[in-house]
Amino acid sequence: MNMKIKSINGPVIKCDNDGIVKMGEMVNVGQLNIIGEVIELNKENVIVQVYEDTTGLKIGEKVDSSGHPLSVCLGPGLLGSIYDGIGRPLKRFPEDGFIKRGLFPFPLDDKRTYKFEALKKSGDVVFEGEKLGYVYEYDIKHFIMVPPGINGKIKEIQKGDRTVRDIFAKIELENGSIYEIKGYQTWGVRTKRPVIDRLDINIPFFTGQRVLDFIFPIPLGGVAAIPGGFGAGKTVVQHSIAKWSNADIIIYVGCGERGNEIAQLLEEFPELIDPKTKKPLIERTIIIGNTSNMPVTARESSIYTGITIAEYYRDMGYNIAILADSTSRWAEALREISSRLEEIPAEEGYPAYLASRLAEYYERAGHFRTLNKEEGSITAIGAVSPQGGDFSEPVTQHTKRFVRGFWALDKTLSSAKHFPAISWKTSYSEYDEELKDWWQLKGNIDWIGMKKKIKAILQTADKLENIIKIVGFESLPDRQKLNVLTANLIKRGFLQQDAYDTIDNYCVPEKQVKLAEIILEFFDFGIEKLREGVSFNKLNNLESVEKIQRLKFHPFPSKKFDDDIDFIKNEMEE
Ligand code: ADP
Ligand code: MG
Repeated sequence: MNMKIKSINGPVIKCDNDGIVKMGEMVNVGQLNIIGEVIELNKENVIVQVYEDTTGLKIGEKVDSSGHPLSVCLGPGLLGSIYDGIGRPLKRFPEDGFIKRGLFPFPLDDKRTYKFEALKKSGDVVFEGEKLGYVYEYDIKHFIMVPPGINGKIKEIQKGDRTVRDIFAKIELENGSIYEIKGYQTWGVRTKRPVIDRLDINIPFFTGQRVLDFIFPIPLGGVAAIPGGFGAGKTVVQHSIAKWSNADIIIYVGCGERGNEIAQLLEEFPELIDPKTKKPLIERTIIIGNTSNMPVTARESSIYTGITIAEYYRDMGYNIAILADSTSRWAEALREISSRLEEIPAEEGYPAYLASRLAEYYERAGHFRTLNKEEGSITAIGAVSPQGGDFSEPVTQHTKRFVRGFWALDKTLSSAKHFPAISWKTSYSEYDEELKDWWQLKGNIDWIGMKKKIKAILQTADKLENIIKIVGFESLPDRQKLNVLTANLIKRGFLQQDAYDTIDNYCVPEKQVKLAEIILEFFDFGIEKLREGVSFNKLNNLESVEKIQRLKFHPFPSKKFDDDIDFIKNEMEE
């Protein structure tokens, strides 16, 4: 029996209850079969949130249940593809990639054949999450896994050329029935995929950005937010991370931001080469594009679609990074739906469950023991775009409770062209303890000590700024002048990093260490010299000052870099 539409309020539809439809179920609404999801249910009524434009829809039209929750299709062919917020395949450019209302094309290329290499054989007993074999998706091994909840004995396993719709294996379950494993599985986006355990996090998530990696680092499996007002540099930072991070796979959720930013990714990524694999970056990237010109409700689901795909690849034992730009646009979708539902609003019109939804999302990140007893991680980084850059608003405040890395963008820095405009005053990382060993042992440095020193120099310089405004730089004692000079070296030679510079767009950890070391050495040398009676002006006129600032522009490793280091060291010895 069909359900009938009783009322239409933008993307929120009320219909009668057929007594069968379930909470969270996907439904097809009206003659066009517009796609929706049940978000409320009582004896008489079903409330459906619709993911497409409802123009032309009429009271009395039918609503069909589908029998399954809003799900994504998981299998070979995801990499390099772009999807909308509910997992429908888009063409390369989102603006011409709109899918006709009511259509849900099969999301994977089902014409393509993959060569399946089996890791198991007929008669083997297999458990949920276990790898049956793999195909190559570009250069990445895409494992065909036993879906969660399935355990049994392999009756049959195929080798060789297969499409995703073919049967790869048949499993005899305990009750004697046969379960067919195809090249893809489906999974409801609102349910996290199971794991065995959460593991410690102590391997750095490298972004190639010095201010993030060295000063405010997060680990593989960590969570961070990038709050910042309009134009502060959130998208550029996210793009840099998508390009250069040490994750195996990147999921980029373009959530309610401008469409041309997604188009930019699609233009750049096939041409950019991943320094690790030497392959085009697009081959390790999946884009969920839900830009500002697309229906607002699909924005709400886009981050869940993204993180479900992330969990699927994590289950294969990979390190995934999911970047959401911006979670504020996502929260606004939540607010719009909530207001249509006439729920009692909490702060600034956001629903009271804003915090729990944010928590649910960020909780799906972490470093895990997979069902297959391997390790895999999801690092989640969300941009937050508070109105006017005011961090006291609810989305920033609630996000702060669930992330341990806070990369605050500062408008005064971006206006001064200090990029990335990450404030050393308001940003923080709570992961230093976990990452200390990596830097101290692998880098063989007193990382914590160096960071303390850098922060102290910056802090002192910030305090001196006001004094300089009043009395002028020249009236400062030499020791304070040296502090200001070194702070400038830290800012220009270390913290600032131009995303568009062909060399400095990315900085390896070894180079980060060398740059930080030479600046701090210069500071110690300066203190020593001042003590010996050398004047500040003499120090300030050393050629090394300029050289230290420009070191970052030399390739690393390179002769030029080493020569300059030698020059600076020599000058300091004389
Ligand atoms: P937001 O997403 O916060 O609105 P964007 O990321 O689009 O801001 O950045 C706005 C502009 O700031 C960019 O177009 C670029 O010119 C400049 N910018 C931001 N970050 C950097 C960076 N790391 N290096 C160079 N320029 C940057
Ligand atoms: Mg942006």
